[in-house]
Order: sequence, then structure tokens, then C-alpha cells
Amino acid sequence: MSFKAKIGIGANLGDARHTVSLAIARLAQLPQTSLTAQSSLYQTAPVDAEGDDYVNAVVEIHTALTAASLLLSLQELELAFGRERPYRHAPRTLDLDLLLYGDQQIETDTLTVPHPRMTERAFVLLPLLQIDPLVDIPGKGPAHQFADAVAAQAIQQIT
Ligand code: ADP
Ligand code: MG
Repeated sequence: MSFKAKIGIGANLGDARHTVSLAIARLAQLPQTSLTAQSSLYQTAPVDAEGDDYVNAVVEIHTALTAASLLLSLQELELAFGRERPYRHAPRTLDLDLLLYGDQQIETDTLTVPHPRMTERAFVLLPLLQIDPLVDIPGKGPAHQFADAVAAQAIQQIT
């Protein structure tokens, strides 16, 4: 059994654009997984955080990994890119968020899907809608209905 999942990617330390591109390549190489869509890269000012601008993207994968093992794989990748967490919302080399996993709603100690803040963030919503304009957020409805509310957030498509 295979699931369609969406992953949000963000980086704002070092060569963030390079990091995001490399991360996408690594996601495509996860076991039992294929990359089925990738958004453009976007540049955004940090929300609730400090440091340089972020580079963001969203990808779609088809995967036979469970949501829990996918999350572990994402965390391994973050570590492989040298992510450190000296304090909450610190600048980070690489942030990988599991946004959507099939049409599932998941609530465990370590995993909440759909990602609870995805509808409030232009840097998630715009790339998500680029690759899947009709995507539905389980429990919330069509993603595009949240676009107006984030329209004031500064975001620039860079590729
Ligand atoms: P954020 O991505 O919200 O800025 P962090 O990346 O620092 O914050 O949060 C990481 C923590 O969030 C991890 O401990 C992980 O267990 C938890 N988490 C809960 N739901 C998700 C999700 N859907 N995707 C990624 N991490 C999640
Ligand atoms: Mg995260």
C-alpha cells in the first residue's frame, strides 16, 4: 500500500538554496518512495524566527513508508544536514515537515498531521498550491481557501 504525502522544506543557514535542492534529491532516494512533484523554490522572510531569509519548497512523494517511519527519515535527513537546535525557532540548516499523509489525520506525541500551522504560512501554502491546486486538508477543507489570509506575507518565487 502506498500513500501520497506532501513535505515542506525550509532552510536559512549557509547556502540555503543548495541545501533545499540537495534535500529534494535525498527525499527522492528514500526507500519505497518516489518523488512525484516538486514546487519552485521560494524565498521568504522568517516568521516567528530570526536570521536570514528562508528558502522554501514543497514536494509530493508516493511512499510505502508509514507516517511514523517517514517522520524518522525526515529527522535523520535534518541531522545529516547538521541541524542544531540551540533554542526554539533558532535559524536552522534544514527543516522538513510532514504536511499531509494521504487523507489521514494523525495525532501522536511526536507527529501531528496535517501539520497544524500549514494553513497560516504563505511559504507552505503557495508552493503546496503550485503543485496541487485542488489539494484538500483533512479536517479543514480545500487549501486554496486559506490563501487570501496569508496574502500579506512577503514571499518571492526564485526558480
Ligand atoms: P516547526 O517545524 O514547527 O518550526 P520543529 O521542526 O522544531 O518546528 O519541530 C520539530 C518537532 O515537531 C519534532 O519533535 C516532531 O516530533 C514534531 N512534529 C509534530 N508534527 C510534525 C509534522 N507533521 N512534521 C514534522 N515534525 C512534526
Ligand atoms: Mg519542523
